[in-house]
Amino acid sequence: MAIKYKRVLLKLSGEALAGEKKSGLDFDTVLKICASIKDAWDLGAEIGIVVGGGNFWRGRSSGKMDRTRADHMGMLATVINSLALADALEQLGVDVRVQTAISMQAIAEPYVRGKALRHLEKRRVVIFGCGTGNPYFSTDTASSLRAAEIDADIIMKATKVDGVYDSDPMKNADAKKYDNLTFAEILTQELGVMDSTAASMCRDNSIPILVFSVDDPHNIVRAIQGETIGTLVK
Ligand code: UDP
Repeated sequence: MAIKYKRVLLKLSGEALAGEKKSGLDFDTVLKICASIKDAWDLGAEIGIVVGGGNFWRGRSSGKMDRTRADHMGMLATVINSLALADALEQLGVDVRVQTAISMQAIAEPYVRGKALRHLEKRRVVIFGCGTGNPYFSTDTASSLRAAEIDADIIMKATKVDGVYDSDPMKNADAKKYDNLTFAEILTQELGVMDSTAASMCRDNSIPILVFSVDDPHNIVRAIQGETIGTLVK
């Protein structure tokens, strides 16, 4: 089956990499997710990945710490996840590069847009570590920034939830899932799918986001093929 989206920015939450462990990394889960990324790549998709760090650390939950320092720790957590993804993808035979927004040249390339574009054209998966490189931002905002920079057709936000609901489906059995939403609805109704910086950046730059669950990793392939899964925000 053909692909609907040629160039995609895949956002993986840190939590998705923890598997049953709920925190830290479960490499078998990482391998399963990467096997589906490879399937999508084999179909011809050009794939950039932004990964979160919430399975290790989130700056905003750091309590008494200085927020900037706590966010630096969060950005380092995204690098741990980026390296794990790169390792799994390489084991599966995928050509991959990691670029970080904060230079750490002994372990990854620095983020350079032109080089990232060249990698994508050469069919290399590019993993963007360190989010935006700035505190007070999230990896969702980093996804919207990198998606705009690489001119991605869509952001595919792969999480633990299978779409956007009108209330928390874990707490409310009657919670209703949306198939489609606008960014205006996300912003005015404060639906907790992404932070407002990320939502307004996508709205302003006309980048759609598909939110879906990666509990079934094959959803990554379904999403790239344009199957109706999750919630499409545009
Ligand atoms: N972070 C940051 N700037 C960025 C992106 C991320 O400071 O541009 C830090 C921030 O502390 C954040 C952490 O990295 O809490 C992990 O990212 P995020 O919370 O977005 O991860 P996710 O919830 O998607 O796993």
